[in-house]
Parts: sequence; structure tokens; C-alpha cells
Amino acid sequence: MVQQKVIGLIGGMSWESSAEYYRIVNETVRARLGSLRSARCLMWSFDFGEIEALQHAGRWDEATAALIDAARRLERGGADVVVICTNTMHRMADEVQAAIGLPLLHIADPTAARIRAAGLSRVGLLGTAFTMEQDFYKGRLATRHGLDVLVPEAEDRAEVHRVIYEELVQGRALPASRAAYRAVIARLVERGAQAIILGCTEIMLLVRPEDSPVPLFDTTALHAEAAVDWALAGG
Ligand code: GLU
Repeated sequence: MVQQKVIGLIGGMSWESSAEYYRIVNETVRARLGSLRSARCLMWSFDFGEIEALQHAGRWDEATAALIDAARRLERGGADVVVICTNTMHRMADEVQAAIGLPLLHIADPTAARIRAAGLSRVGLLGTAFTMEQDFYKGRLATRHGLDVLVPEAEDRAEVHRVIYEELVQGRALPASRAAYRAVIARLVERGAQAIILGCTEIMLLVRPEDSPVPLFDTTALHAEAAVDWALAGG
């Protein structure tokens, strides 16, 4: 029997998407190994209220310390690999990686690999304002993967961000917000986007392939599947 490596998930950001990670890693293992098989994994799940307060106050050093603490808990618990179940908190991925002895699977990498494999290079990015506006994510897509990244205009960015924090992380997927996202996607496509990255792990709870005239790349699914690939390949 294939002995799986242990996937360490840093979740709770929000738990709405962590539940999807948990579902996807287990469904993926079942699909690959057979009906009774499931993922060997550990999850550290934050109180998102604490994390959100640090984010919006710009207290990134404290947020980094919290993520490092979580990664070390997983390491002590026996994880073989660390997966941060949010795009935004990859802002401190390098610091987390430097603080642990385990590999960290960066969410942007399997996403970009899949986009390149589809022969696409000009992508629209939806996510929190932190992800859309700061360089930690767009920069990695551009410099490591050669992608040309478009973000929505300011007003659209504000709405995408608002919906994430006021609705999606609170478990609400509203038809009006789905329509708003559909319009934002259409404007990115008008500007030349050949694909859209759902660069926030809750957006897949709201937006479906039929909301976009171009392919959607869902970071939640791609990241969770990459973790299973890693665990089954023996690390
Ligand atoms: N899960 C979201 C993301 O992928 C947003 C919540 C957070 O700020 O971590 O960016």
C-alpha cells in the first residue's frame, strides 16, 4: 500500500475555505488510490478574527510570527510538508519557509504551472486587496513563471475585497455579489485576460466556470491537488 506523506495544512483563513481544502485532499486521494483511502493530514486552524485584525492594521510582523508558530506546530505534530490555505498569507511564505525544516508548497506555483500548461500567459487576478495590490503574489507569477498579470481597476478591486471579508469568509455567497464578480471578470477579459486566477481561496464558493468567458484557475483546488501529488510521490 502506498504510504502517504503527511500534509500539514495551515487553515482557518477562513475555515470556509479550509473545509474545501480538507474535502479536496480527501477526494483526490480517494480518486487516486481507491474508495477507502483518504488523506493523511494535520490542520492548524486559526481564529480568523485575530488574523483579519492584524491584516487590516498592517501588523504584518505579528501576522508573520503567528504563521511561523502555526507551521512549527505542524512540524512538531509530524507533518512532512506545509500548505498555507490562503493566498493572502503567502505574503510571509519566505519567512515561514526559512523558519521550518519542512518544504512549503507555494500556492502560486501549481496555479502558474497549470496556466502555462494550457498555453496561456496573460491572466486576470482576483483576490484580496493585499493580493491584488502588493507585489508578493503578482511578482512571483511574473518573475518565476513569466505570466503577465492584470488586476481589476480600483473600484472593482474594492468591491472584490469587500465581498471576500464581508461575505465569503462569513459563509455567505450572494447572487448580487456573483453578478458583480461576473462583471469584474468581463472587464478583465475586455482588457486582454486569457484566463482568471481565483486568487482567494473562498472565491470558488461564489464563482463558477459559467461566470467567465475564459478559463478559471481555482487556487484552492490546484493547491490542494498539488499537496496530494507531493504526498503520494513520497515528497
Ligand atoms: N482566503 C483568502 C485568500 O486566499 C482571504 C482570507 C485571508 O486573508 O487569508 O487570500
